Amino acid sequence: MSLAQLTLHEASDKLRKRELTSVELTEAVYQRIADTDDKVHAYLTLAREAALEQANRADEKLKQARDPAPLLGIPIALKDNFLTKGLRTTCASKILGDFIPPYDATTVDKVRSAGAVIIGKTNLDEFAMGSSVENSAFFATCNPWNLERIPGGSSGGSAAAVAADECIAALGTDTGGSIRQPAACCGIVGLKPTYGRVSRYGIIAFASSMDQVGPMTKDVRDAALLLEAIAGQDPADSTSINSSVPRYSAALNGDIKGLRLGIPKEYFVSGMQIEVGEAVRSAIRELEKHGAVIEEISLPHTEYAVAVYYIVATAEASSNLARYDGMRFGRRANGKDLIETYMISRDEGFGAEVKRRIMLGTYALSAGYYDAYYLKAQRVRTLIRKDFDAAFGRCDVIVTPTAPTTAFRLGEKTQDPLQMYLSDIYTISINLAGLPAISLPCGFDGEGMPIGLQIIGKHFDEATILRVADTYERATEWHKTKPRIQDR
Ligand code: GLN
Repeated sequence: MSLAQLTLHEASDKLRKRELTSVELTEAVYQRIADTDDKVHAYLTLAREAALEQANRADEKLKQARDPAPLLGIPIALKDNFLTKGLRTTCASKILGDFIPPYDATTVDKVRSAGAVIIGKTNLDEFAMGSSVENSAFFATCNPWNLERIPGGSSGGSAAAVAADECIAALGTDTGGSIRQPAACCGIVGLKPTYGRVSRYGIIAFASSMDQVGPMTKDVRDAALLLEAIAGQDPADSTSINSSVPRYSAALNGDIKGLRLGIPKEYFVSGMQIEVGEAVRSAIRELEKHGAVIEEISLPHTEYAVAVYYIVATAEASSNLARYDGMRFGRRANGKDLIETYMISRDEGFGAEVKRRIMLGTYALSAGYYDAYYLKAQRVRTLIRKDFDAAFGRCDVIVTPTAPTTAFRLGEKTQDPLQMYLSDIYTISINLAGLPAISLPCGFDGEGMPIGLQIIGKHFDEATILRVADTYERATEWHKTKPRIQDR
């Protein structure tokens, strides 16, 4: 077995016991990247030299530290919308094609201080807008389970890197499903924390009322450990909440007796791939065997979620992306005057999907349409949130599929944005409501593609969804199956 296959907690144990050094582990990960990334294309930028220096320093610390942090010496990958000081950060956009940030995002700073080794920056949909990584301005990423399929998006590079053992764990961001849906597509664990749980300072903003940072890992324990390392209030992000960070890994006690699982009747509808429904139902039965109790619940405004999201997210994006004007950031075109410089820089710098969203969002916010679209969407958003409040009166967690289908074929939906938007149907409401949710593997379809189970929790109750997920994971083997990366 290659060392790159280790989980974070396995690798951390071996590092502590001196059965392994961080330099060996980091070299094994780069070897794996050399062997597979010409097929998977998970990374936009690698940082080998700096990483080996960090690994060396971690090895020194490991010799001295009595109780080293779990992340000390662990190679991790970062989605390329995390600002990394001195390391190119593109957001998969030409407009930031050669942007070198002057500072680290708070979460990057936190994992660095915990001793993690930063392997490189992973591919995504441009500005995190998409569900397949096909909107990257550079190249598509392939699903390690089948190179002709999408890895999910927008954190598809991180998901593919974890699934292909091209890192030990990764960080992603989730605005409408971008951690959970690629996690489901690639057969890994992905956790979107509660809005406010993790700092977004230094994350390239997409839709600020929904963006969250979270772990993408090989198992549930790793997600708990990584969340512990990145969570907590940050004075530099006023939306981060002052609430103590539990030791999530200590919550994984396998006890879910009497826990009430809400099953929303609106989520098991036509349009869902049959095998996805079957796998999720059998996962629910497994949880019942461990003493959980089933409650049918209703989230009646679910049918509006995709429409509401695509108004709110595009409106916020149109405002957030106004700063890319060719003056202060990245690429600048040569116009005859200032206005023309703005126009050409933006026209050349942004891809089609980003432009589509800026136009949609600007329209939804414009005078005369604001009330009809943006304000209406915000009102329906409140109703969606209230649906969850009511449901959580009757249950402790909500269990659903993560995505309606397994990973589709590259190119299958690129001509039809609406079809693409529908892949987020089960994940988007959670962002609108600001709730935490995790996706973990719960089976494979007839073509061998992974299926994801989503567990949604109450605000700031990541501990319970991690506990339920871990209980399920202990009873199953799905997370242990590895893709065989074949030539296309
Ligand atoms: N797929 C969704 C979108 O395109 C979600 C993206 C995300 O969570 N960043 O907006």
